[in-house]
Amino acid sequence: ATPAATMVGTSIGAKNGVLFKGGDVLERAKDVDTVVFDKTGTLTTGEMELTDVVPLDGTRTATDGGSGTVADGGMQAFEGRSESDDEIGEETVLRTAASAESGSEHPLAQAIVAGAEEHGIDLADPTEFENVPGQGVRATIDGEEVLVGNRKLIRDSDIDPAPAEDELERLEAEGKTAMLVARGGALLGLVADADTVKESAKEAVGALHDRDLAIHMITGDNERTAEAVAEEVDIDPANVRAEVLPEDKAAAVEEIQSAGSRAMMVGDGVNDAPALATAYVGTAIGSGTDVAIEAADVTLMRDDPLDVVKAIRISDGTLQKIK
Ligand code: ADP
Ligand code: MG
Repeated sequence: ATPAATMVGTSIGAKNGVLFKGGDVLERAKDVDTVVFDKTGTLTTGEMELTDVVPLDGTRTATDGGSGTVADGGMQAFEGRSESDDEIGEETVLRTAASAESGSEHPLAQAIVAGAEEHGIDLADPTEFENVPGQGVRATIDGEEVLVGNRKLIRDSDIDPAPAEDELERLEAEGKTAMLVARGGALLGLVADADTVKESAKEAVGALHDRDLAIHMITGDNERTAEAVAEEVDIDPANVRAEVLPEDKAAAVEEIQSAGSRAMMVGDGVNDAPALATAYVGTAIGSGTDVAIEAADVTLMRDDPLDVVKAIRISDGTLQKIK
């Protein structure tokens, strides 16, 4: 493109909240044949909410109708429920999980803490705290080790997650991120957070499909939750990579590009930065972290996945001047 065309494209971009980091990026975006989305915070709002608290006290079976489950938007089961010593109740599970998560800045953790606060639950201060990236947290509370996180975190501490498997699968099939809570070497229960798919996510994926682009999704979240979200926005489950550790996201993009395709990676988080740098075009979306923006070639100022389509259309010249 001529310098003048580059200037026009860059300025149309700026007016649309699509910032290209230079003329070469503006040129490259039209040659993208694959778009790789991060899930959390990119296709979804990333604003997690606590939806379920499930005690596993051993006296209940998973088939008794999930009596320990706190359903979406209410958690009425809490109110007026007293706990006896021999039964682990919702309150114990939530207090334990939230106390352990109080030192974490992860959106999953913040939703658990907010949920506990909403129920007026006093949290204990962990004496020790460790963040295990892509897995969960490990804390010491009242002299006991508490774990909150995924199956791998629990297994790595030699605790068998099997007794929670039915409940895990039920929550995950609903698209929720279910986390195991263990205390003193034994499973205590589960908590689940849910996130909302962004309003325009499905329309954006549809518009990219219309342009014959291959669409992929990469997430650290588990397979079932990932597939529930993929289905909601029309991404082929075969193109979903779940349980990808933060340090492996870039390798996943490399693998997608290994057959010679040119991928645009769209992400928002710190853990997306290496993947953004690896992709043919890295795109940071919305209120993405500074690290992501720095690693990206394109920054979408709004939190709108449709701007991914806009970026490509500005590059290929089909999106003309907008005053
Ligand atoms: P994403 O790629 O979706 O942003 P992460 O890589 O941050 O996800 O986390 C992957 C998985 O690790 C989560 O789905 C969750 O199961 C677990 N996890 C991560 N951080 C926490 C936490 N603070 N508490 C509980 N579980 C966590
Ligand atoms: Mg993210």
